[in-house]
Amino acid sequence: MSVLIKGGRIVTAADDYVGDIFIEDERVTLIGESLDMQADKVIDASGKYVIPGAIDPHTHMEMPFGGTVSCDDFTSGTVSAAFGGTTSHVDFCLQEPGQSLPDALATWHEKIERAKPVIDVGFHLAVTDLEEGGTLEDLRKAPDEGVTSYKLFMAYKGAIMVDDETLFKTMQVAAETGALVMVHAENGDAIDVLVKQALAEGKTEPKWHAATRPPITEGEATNRAIQLARIAGSPLYVVHVSCKEAIDPIAQARTNDWHAWGETCTQYLFIDETALDQPNFEGAKYVYTPPPRPKENQEHLWHALATDVLSVVSTDHCPFNWDGQKTLGKDDFSKIPNGGPGIENRLHMLHHFGVRQGRLSMNRFVELVSTNPAKFFGMYPRKGTIAVGSDADIVVFDPEKRVKISAETHHSNIDYNLFEGTEVSGAPEVVLVRGQVIVEGDRLVGKPGAGKFVKRARFGEQLPGASGQRPLNVG
Ligand SMILES: [Zn+2]
Repeated sequence: MSVLIKGGRIVTAADDYVGDIFIEDERVTLIGESLDMQADKVIDASGKYVIPGAIDPHTHMEMPFGGTVSCDDFTSGTVSAAFGGTTSHVDFCLQEPGQSLPDALATWHEKIERAKPVIDVGFHLAVTDLEEGGTLEDLRKAPDEGVTSYKLFMAYKGAIMVDDETLFKTMQVAAETGALVMVHAENGDAIDVLVKQALAEGKTEPKWHAATRPPITEGEATNRAIQLARIAGSPLYVVHVSCKEAIDPIAQARTNDWHAWGETCTQYLFIDETALDQPNFEGAKYVYTPPPRPKENQEHLWHALATDVLSVVSTDHCPFNWDGQKTLGKDDFSKIPNGGPGIENRLHMLHHFGVRQGRLSMNRFVELVSTNPAKFFGMYPRKGTIAVGSDADIVVFDPEKRVKISAETHHSNIDYNLFEGTEVSGAPEVVLVRGQVIVEGDRLVGKPGAGKFVKRARFGEQLPGASGQRPLNVG
């Protein structure tokens, strides 16, 4: 199978030029001004951007949480991703307390066997228990299986939260194995006290979800994780940074070259804490963690993205239906499953409100949604760029295509959309994963199973057969 993409404006994190791309089997084999090649399929990309497929390094498909399970499996979730221009994602394989780490990984591999993905999939290992189930030896082995990042939750006390001892031991193992440590940074102990006090005072509505997790709890835990990682000598990646209190310690780390970086997620750029206060329990749609913050944080986040203090925009796609799942917490905000959808709309929102409104260059946009995730998570330069030898994960993106975002038209199983009714200009037109057309216009062309498990390289290491710089110096 060969594909020729003609006349598009090819934009990577570094480049911006008009050219043709020739794909043989799964990889890009030739790029030129005007290629005169015979191909099985020719795609006219004139007037369109041609960008590397986006990578979402933060998703939770079919994840058990709070007595229910997130409502996208790896088929529906990845179809939704593909329509949004995302061609790879890295999902969190969650160790159940008491479960061994190899068992946890086997459970996640079964999920992608049962509900096969249409885009490529990697796993992070979310460590919740190093006493009953997990061992340091098993943790050391995970990178050999292509699972090269460890995630730890500093919140959700009594469920999946780890203490500083487990966090620190994992960081020490990461320093040995070359894995990247990822943290959900919030002070779970303080939050647990605040939640119990609020409930005792009869404060049960969704808005108390934000009131009991103030920004300082995120800032404190972010700084604590950064300092512990410095002692352990491990690199650190702080997920879903939502507020100035957490940006500041990351800025300090970046200035001092402490090997700590951060991502934010689309929703924190657009949704503020007032969303939780909607009547008739509608506010529960915005119960995700960290919670929506006071609006002024949005400008701090945009600024941090533009100035390279934050390095990635992910989605934390973790969908729970409003009807039947979110309603588990109708009388108690602490029982509302934490999470929201978003995997389909990251490029829509960031392109329209970021690039079109002059907050981000096209190059920076590509870097934030594709190149940097590939570098952090051991997939660059196989993914995250358009170059000879790279996987042909490519999005033909029409900057003028009008889209009205809505749960009526999105492809996730979830019954609401965080950006319902938002109109944007700019959407994927054709989406390819390793040279296979997955989405064309409004049609799903790819079949479940088109996506494969990606064995990722260790942080800062080369992938076999790939060329380029050691990617430690992530932009
Ligand atoms: Zn998450």
